[in-house]
Amino acid sequence: MQQAERRRRLVLEIQRLAEVAIFGTLSTTYRTCGRSGCHCQGSGPKHGPHLNVSYRGEEGKTTGYYVPLAAQRATRQGVAAWEKLQSRLRQLAQLNKEQILQQARESRRSSGLGSRP
Ligand SMILES: [Zn+2]
Repeated sequence: MQQAERRRRLVLEIQRLAEVAIFGTLSTTYRTCGRSGCHCQGSGPKHGPHLNVSYRGEEGKTTGYYVPLAAQRATRQGVAAWEKLQSRLRQLAQLNKEQILQQARESRRSSGLGSRP
C-alpha cells in the first residue's frame, strides 16, 4: 500500500476511535448492600459485578467512577478504543517521521538543481 494511502486510513481510523475513546482502567467489584437478611450479608454471593473506571487525573491523583449497567457496553468499547488509539497514533507518528526524513533527503538531493516541483 502506498504510504499516503496508509496515512489516510490511519487518520480516518484514529478519528473514528477518538470519537468513542474512554480513558481509564476497568475493574469489577462485588459489594454488600445494607438490607438486613440479604444473601450478600452472609455466605451468599455479593452483588455485582459492578464496573468501575479508574484513571490518573491531571494532578497525578488516581480517581475513578462507577459505571451504571446501561453504560457498561459503551464504556468497555471506549476503553478498548483508547488502547487501539495509542497504537494507531504510534503508527501514524512513525509514518510522519519517515515522511519528514524522506522529504529532507529529497530536498538535499535536489538542492543546487533548483526548487522542487
Ligand atoms: Zn445485598
